[in-house]
Amino acid sequence: MIKVPLLDLGPQNRALESAYAQAFNEVMQSNAFIMGPRLEAFEKACAEALKVKHAIGVSSGTDALLLSLMALGVGEGDEVLLPAFTFFATAGSVARLGATPVWVDVSPHTFNISLEDAARKVSPRTVAIMPVHLFGQSCDLNALQAFALAHRLKVIEDAAQSMGARWQGRPTMSVGDFGATSFFPSKNLGGFGDSGLVTTQDDALAERARILRVHGMQPKYYHKLVGANFRMDPLQAALLQIKLPHLPKYNCARAGNAAFYHQSLLSVQGFAENRPGVSSEAKILLPVDFSREGIWNQFTLRVLQGKRDALKAFLTDRGIGCEIYYPVPLHRQECFAGVGRGADSVTISEQLANEVLSIPIYPEITNEQRNWVAESLAAFVKQA
Ligand SMILES: *Cc1c(COP(=O)(O)O)cnc(C)c1O
Repeated sequence: MIKVPLLDLGPQNRALESAYAQAFNEVMQSNAFIMGPRLEAFEKACAEALKVKHAIGVSSGTDALLLSLMALGVGEGDEVLLPAFTFFATAGSVARLGATPVWVDVSPHTFNISLEDAARKVSPRTVAIMPVHLFGQSCDLNALQAFALAHRLKVIEDAAQSMGARWQGRPTMSVGDFGATSFFPSKNLGGFGDSGLVTTQDDALAERARILRVHGMQPKYYHKLVGANFRMDPLQAALLQIKLPHLPKYNCARAGNAAFYHQSLLSVQGFAENRPGVSSEAKILLPVDFSREGIWNQFTLRVLQGKRDALKAFLTDRGIGCEIYYPVPLHRQECFAGVGRGADSVTISEQLANEVLSIPIYPEITNEQRNWVAESLAAFVKQA
């Protein structure tokens, strides 16, 4: 048995250990722990990497979403279209502002928001759409833009899992009125604690977001707006700035691991790609990067015929980390009982919650480890 954690941050962080230690010492000796030039330098580097005009460091990915909605003035009486199959924060940020989440179904192949379903659910009260580029795969950004234009909607891209992902050459976070990402340790650019980033191409929106980040204050102690403390620490920024140039390399290694799983398993009976029109023999569907430039934040299987929980137990027994992202679609969460609109027609989201299982894909996984994962999947299908 070979142990394979779902994610191991150790090798990645050890490789840059002395640079991190030096940055920590510099920040400590600077005695400057809030805002300042280190944060600005990191924001500039992010704006360049993402091909956006403005990048604004914030306290978390969740706060990046919340701040974006606040800057757009979304509130009570407003509806926001969002996928029912995503992490909680996408909908939580909408609900916290007193706005109404509209539960939109997702594609069973990309796991991303279905614009066909969104079109059915849009109403005169709908002010925005929050697509999520789930598991590192960009939504169709051209279709998204056309949809938003046709319905006069603001776009907030939840890119928490997709920093560096593109759709036909266009980076996620560059198309929406706002893009929001996260540096939570399990994301592709994982930080040392919580933090996030807001992006926009619009000068006025950037200005508003920057003011809201510091209690709506400008100048000092004069409050134009009711904001909050959404700041990112300069220490975090200094550490992430060291890691940022390595992100393309990390993403490339993840793509290599995805290609390895495809090569090892697609020739084995019982496995197929997660595309439309799959044969009835298929037991496990492997994710497909329809965008071709995704970043594989997760490698998420669809386990058919009700075998998902059995596979999870099987892999766990063999020392392989795996996780269900996500077991409960958002409209079924206790806190959203009776909240929002559209919950009666999100059947794919409900189906996926019973089928999905994510397996290790992190950049530093060894050959031996990923072989063990592929072998174990094949062994499960053989006996299932
Ligand atoms: C991680 C994540 C968030 C929230 O980011 P935090 O930094 O943990 O607050 C939001 N949306 C999605 C889709 C995520 O995966």
